[in-house]
Amino acid sequence: QVQKPKLILDDGRRLDGRRPDELRPMKMEIGVLKNADGSSLVEVGNTKIIAAVYGPREMHPRHLALPNRATLRVRYHMTPFSTDERKSPVPSRREIELSKVIREALESSILVEQFPRSSIDVFMEVIQADAGTRLASLMAASLAVVDAGIPVKDVIAAVAVGKADGVVVLDLNEPEDMWGEADMPVAMLPSLGQITLIQLNGNMTQQEFKQGLELAYKGISTIYNLEKEVLRNKFAEIHEEGS
Ligand code: ADP
Repeated sequence: QVQKPKLILDDGRRLDGRRPDELRPMKMEIGVLKNADGSSLVEVGNTKIIAAVYGPREMHPRHLALPNRATLRVRYHMTPFSTDERKSPVPSRREIELSKVIREALESSILVEQFPRSSIDVFMEVIQADAGTRLASLMAASLAVVDAGIPVKDVIAAVAVGKADGVVVLDLNEPEDMWGEADMPVAMLPSLGQITLIQLNGNMTQQEFKQGLELAYKGISTIYNLEKEVLRNKFAEIHEEGS
């Protein structure tokens, strides 16, 4: 049994050198796969996710098609090499649960009523896991959906906040996720001011919860700007090709 390390060092910094309100370095790219209708690569620190979207396309099997909207099918999966110890490729209960959580969050961003009887299929592969994989996957999925040309209310931006050694921190890394006192993933449709996912593991006081939510909003606003830049660049490229 490994001992819990000190998460906040004497100079107030975290194990990876960040201050409590700092995000990890991030990278986002869309259109990374040739065989999907939409795709993306999202890196948050050492967490790496690939997402692929197919559709909207005719729903198979047909009897599952919904008359008034598209059906969203979502799979979150961790590759065997994504974790320290090899993970079985067989979907775990956790992956099945997270697929549902991600589907519900993603569904609220897509204009599914525009595509009756269709399916939209979303696959996320965790290539490397270092905490925050559900949110990085959700953002990757959202970017890939936009890349596929599917109309959305907004692109999803998300970050986790939590508590480590009594300090409210932004964007947990793996030791903080594992040893910290609280972990609260938050996802939003930023331009609408809507929260699409929020979970809380561990415990925080009401005061810490409020402080954490404020910190999450700040992080989400930075991440949202990055997403918009990535999308703008892509659509500017298309515009240039077309002109
Ligand atoms: P999230 O990845 O959304 O933070 P959790 O709160 O369940 O989800 O955190 C799990 C984290 O634990 C992963 O991000 C990963 O860094 C780490 N981990 C290590 N081994 C495993 C494993 N076998 N399955 C899931 N997570 C693992």
